[in-house]
Amino acid sequence: MARIGFIGLGIMGSPMAANLVKAGHQVRGHDHHAENMDKLVAAGGIAAASVAQATGDAEVVATMLPDSPQVTEAVLGAGGVFDTLRAAGTRGVLFVDFSTISPQTSREIALAGAEVGARVLDAPVSGGQTGAIEGKLSIMVGGAAADFEAATAVLRAVGTTLALVGPHGSGQVVKAANQLVVGGIYALVAEAIVLMEASGVDAKAGLDVLAGGLAGSRILELKRESMLARQFRPGFRIDLHHKDMGIALATARDANVSLPMTGLVAQLIASARARGDGALDHSALLRTAEALSGRETARPPGGGQ
Ligand code: NAD
Repeated sequence: MARIGFIGLGIMGSPMAANLVKAGHQVRGHDHHAENMDKLVAAGGIAAASVAQATGDAEVVATMLPDSPQVTEAVLGAGGVFDTLRAAGTRGVLFVDFSTISPQTSREIALAGAEVGARVLDAPVSGGQTGAIEGKLSIMVGGAAADFEAATAVLRAVGTTLALVGPHGSGQVVKAANQLVVGGIYALVAEAIVLMEASGVDAKAGLDVLAGGLAGSRILELKRESMLARQFRPGFRIDLHHKDMGIALATARDANVSLPMTGLVAQLIASARARGDGALDHSALLRTAEALSGRETARPPGGGQ
């Protein structure tokens, strides 16, 4: 069992840290918001007042932060993870970044980590808040095979599907692929709802049939009822999906490929955000599809729940 420092205890990090405690690890967690650390303490973990305190004597340091700037600040910044390891002269610590950030930033962090003797993995996850609570995330990992092996016990406490997909940054590329598929399915489920409702058919019965046929998906399984009820409490915020579509398009540009569907979905998500829905769950893409046909309903207070 390991001493783990966990930085970023939000929608995803909080249940992930709790599952690490449940698996028998000692977890010292840090977040900008004190109430998130209270949740960790209630789950049996320890609150750390700073990134340095969370990192102090850790054998494994994990981050679950919103985007590249926050990860860069917490890991490479003054008093950050690598500064702390450098000052303590501690080498061989496993650093696992679960956040979804750009592959380029992940590669830069891996290079900086090598300088302080940290073993770095980019390990973005899929499975949403439900997967995080149930400890059933899918984890796509970039880095060295030996470091992946060494991290397996920790990864197994939060996920069930683990895959090493290549060198540093590769986990983020797979996550970008994941996000363009998820965004595309949401956009099409939203259009299916608009079509059925505008045509006067029973959209609930219609989606039940879709879910059982070739059009079936995890999204239809988990989200069709809340979408029909216009309940958009996050979950996964439109703002974060907008960030991920930006990563997908920048990664496509780097790889010299054209992804027209991804571009279209990115624009729909950008529209959702520009129209003020950024804090809602990404299933609120339904509101964008409705707006395109003049069928938009009032924004639900608090996301509809
Ligand atoms: P969130 O905003 O709920 O959590 C992020 C947490 O990080 C917040 O509690 C915030 O206070 C904290 N934080 C920010 N900067 C910090 C810093 N410098 N030091 C300490 N704490 C800091 O976001 P989330 O939904 O948990 O998402 C986290 C990451 O996981 C994102 O990259 C997201 O894209 C990815 N992700 C989210 C989901 C989902 O369903 N929510 C699913 C898969 C992947």
